[in-house]
Amino acid sequence: MITDTDVLVIGGGPGGSTAATCLAQGGLRVTLVEREAFPRFHIGESLLPANIPLLERLGVMDRVKEAGFITKYGAYIHDQETDLSYTFMFRPGKPWPPWAFEVPRAQFDGVLLDHAAAQPGVTLCQPAQVENVAFDADGVNAEIRDAAGSRTLRARFLVDASGRDGFLASRQGRREPIPGLGKVALFAHFRGARRWPGKEEGNIRLYVFEDGWFWWIPFRGDVTSVGCVLHARAAREREGSVEALYEEMLGRCRAVAEGLGGAERITPVHTAANFSYRTSPVVGDRFVCVGDSVVFIDPIFSTGVFVAMQSAELASAEILRAFRDNRFAARRFGGYVRRIQRGIRPFTRFINRYYEPAFLEVLLRPRPNLRHPRQRDRAPRRRRLPAHAVAHADVARHLLLAGTHQYLAPPLARPAGGVEALLVNANQMRSHLMKVAPWGDRRSNQGHP
Ligand SMILES: Cc1cc2nc3c(=O)[nH]c(=O)nc-3n(C[C@H](O)[C@H](O)[C@H](O)COP(=O)(O)OP(=O)(O)OC[C@H]3O[C@@H](n4cnc5c(N)ncnc54)[C@H](O)[C@@H]3O)c2cc1C
Repeated sequence: MITDTDVLVIGGGPGGSTAATCLAQGGLRVTLVEREAFPRFHIGESLLPANIPLLERLGVMDRVKEAGFITKYGAYIHDQETDLSYTFMFRPGKPWPPWAFEVPRAQFDGVLLDHAAAQPGVTLCQPAQVENVAFDADGVNAEIRDAAGSRTLRARFLVDASGRDGFLASRQGRREPIPGLGKVALFAHFRGARRWPGKEEGNIRLYVFEDGWFWWIPFRGDVTSVGCVLHARAAREREGSVEALYEEMLGRCRAVAEGLGGAERITPVHTAANFSYRTSPVVGDRFVCVGDSVVFIDPIFSTGVFVAMQSAELASAEILRAFRDNRFAARRFGGYVRRIQRGIRPFTRFINRYYEPAFLEVLLRPRPNLRHPRQRDRAPRRRRLPAHAVAHADVARHLLLAGTHQYLAPPLARPAGGVEALLVNANQMRSHLMKVAPWGDRRSNQGHP
């Protein structure tokens, strides 16, 4: 049978665009099918510094710069209960810069998709939907529907980058919720929200309060994304509309309510629920899943877009090797699966800890020996906290300050034994932190200007 394309990519989000770009740059013919007409609203707006080298490797950095996204130099976290706050500024001296971007995804995803579509060998079908696929020994037949009707496309390989839809998992696999992370998110864009001056304007802000936490992501210009991640029980206990629940939560988080005084909501309130899951299988004979179609843990560390793009880049390298050898069995992609699993595991642990009050207290109030000697005298006394909370908070702080998660990136140096090893050895972690302690970062327990 004649093939129409080498690789069919389902989905034109960051994962799909990255896969299409890498595969085409490796010399394959790619058909990318995206269901929605762009620009379209999407959640996942705060990037990590580790995204930057990836954008450069894709060759899209100039287009991203032209788009004029606001620069993010760090993250501010405030806990309403204790009134503690801390600003984590990304540290220099890493293989990535000490900054990232905050991006309206309607615009960012368009830049990545345009870049993918401009690669020789890429055919973009948009808006069009992959409705069914059938694998055989030599490839895959995909039924694609667009405004003109339905047709069958023949490919030798499939990349599932369909995001939370989990195209393959929902048809021939499983999607399991991650225990303990049943959450609901409510989010919208505002015009006229209060801005911070200077370099801190673009920082993401996280406001923790009794029912969950808010993100505050400023974009270039006057638009700000404000989203609330609620414990599922908090959402269940309340009746009424999504808008009413969102308004109620805004009212319960004082700092967010103040910052939005006089601001106008310019989008509907969007929702996402049960977004912490993993799927299986991740790979198979003639297919690989990337990004959210594999796993999503929690938005707290802003890892989603990076994981989507990095997993797509890693998967593409394996796919190119498979084409070179003309062998497409699932076992060829075992290394890819292990890398994803190993990378995700520590974060699952962090996330569970993050929702413990003791963890947050340590995170926002570093132990005196981690401060610059000049700051130690001024260290406030802290009540005794469980050792695991201290260890986990130290690791989490280290990751936040490093500005990224090294786990998926093969060319970058990782601490001996990986992040996982640091987790189980708090003493080792402490001495490691002493070496990398961020003397330059700014602590602010007195609120923010
Ligand atoms: C509440 C919340 C907050 C988040 N905040 C952040 C954040 O601050 N920073 C961050 O990095 N990440 C964040 N994320 C995660 C981020 O949204 C995702 O990880 C990221 O978008 C994954 O990219 P992707 O390419 O895998 O999937 P997506 O971006 O979802 O792209 C998938 C695409 O596939 C298309 N598609 C699906 N099915 C089909 C089909 N059958 N045919 C054709 N096309 C199809 C869809 O239209 C979509 O465009 C957040 C997630 C949640 C839930």
